[in-house]
Amino acid sequence: MSENASIAVIGGGLTGCVLFWSLQGRGHDVYLCHRPTQYAASSASMGLLSPLSGPRLAPIWQMTSTIPFSHQFYTALQKKIGEPIYQPISLKRYISDQNRKQVEKRLSMRETAPYISQLSSDCYLIHEAAMIDITSLCQYTHQYADDIGAMIDIDSLNSSDEFHSIDCRGAYMMHSEIWSGLGFRAAFGENAIIEVTHTLNAPLQSHGWTLIPIDQHQLWVGSTYRWDIDDCEQRYDTSSELEEAISQLAKKQLFDSNWTIKHIKSGIRPIIEGRLPVFGPHPYLKRQWTINGLGSKGTAWAPYVVDQFMTLFETNVCAHPKRLPKANWRNEHKKV
Ligand SMILES: Cc1cc2nc3c(=O)[nH]c(=O)nc-3n(C[C@H](O)[C@H](O)[C@H](O)COP(=O)(O)OP(=O)(O)OC[C@H]3O[C@@H](n4cnc5c(N)ncnc54)[C@H](O)[C@@H]3O)c2cc1C
Repeated sequence: MSENASIAVIGGGLTGCVLFWSLQGRGHDVYLCHRPTQYAASSASMGLLSPLSGPRLAPIWQMTSTIPFSHQFYTALQKKIGEPIYQPISLKRYISDQNRKQVEKRLSMRETAPYISQLSSDCYLIHEAAMIDITSLCQYTHQYADDIGAMIDIDSLNSSDEFHSIDCRGAYMMHSEIWSGLGFRAAFGENAIIEVTHTLNAPLQSHGWTLIPIDQHQLWVGSTYRWDIDDCEQRYDTSSELEEAISQLAKKQLFDSNWTIKHIKSGIRPIIEGRLPVFGPHPYLKRQWTINGLGSKGTAWAPYVVDQFMTLFETNVCAHPKRLPKANWRNEHKKV
């Protein structure tokens, strides 16, 4: 990058906000361009951070780096901003019969053993998990950027070519002419805040659903996945899948049968073919960069991915060449 050039971070979701703090922390002249949207993933996210995921508790990408890194990052950020955005937890996880053998193996594997212990034949405890209050983190960042005069309008960038532009607009980038070469496979998702007579003591995952207690009478339940998304501006109606899932979970006595839905949150996960993060420079355009593809693991991946991006941005060294936009560019978009 050219010395002393200003940087505009486009999109103030989790990725853009983590990037904003990281650039600021390293003394860059950074601005945030944020426009609120209906389906920002960060506004719908439950904020669960877990080292193991999926029905067989597979380790997430770069788990041994991303997990300690993200705990460190959120602890430091919480201290800096003085807002309770980070809560370390152990996550209870129920496993179905067909996946038990695979999950049992994780108990003795060197990589996964420190992150898991067994509570009963079908229930495990995942360690090094956390809850991140993404909404508060983003709101605080926007306010802070505004207070220091670092919040700018995206249109003011067009006339200036001195900026490095780092596009963090998540799934909204699928509409961008210059970034459409990335193979977006965005997934729409919903979760519900329900009212119950008695809530849970702690977060848990069962049958593919996450349940997070909010207070004594409220619980978050989610999330759905819908994969046929190619337009973030369209209006998506609430599916019945979530309601059906909540009634099934109540039948399993995870909470009482006297539940009512209070609120539904929906968003579009930024997913790129391969379902891994993509970060770095545009393959053909100068001063255009992106960080995208954080999918359903934004809380765990954002701090590490941003750090890797910063190293690349500042020193031109990339430890993950397969994660560069160029390596993920679709052939038919070779020229923009
Ligand atoms: C229902 C649901 C539940 C989830 N639960 C979890 C979970 O428990 N744990 C987890 O780790 N992840 C979860 N996720 C995924 C997580 O939310 C994402 O990985 C993360 O929020 C991605 O952040 P992002 O900043 O890359 O994208 P986004 O949050 O989509 O941010 C993009 C931002 O760009 C802004 N923008 C768009 N267009 C413009 C423009 N023209 N100018 C300026 N700004 C613009 C948008 O308003 C938005 O704020 C969930 C996602 C959904 C949808």
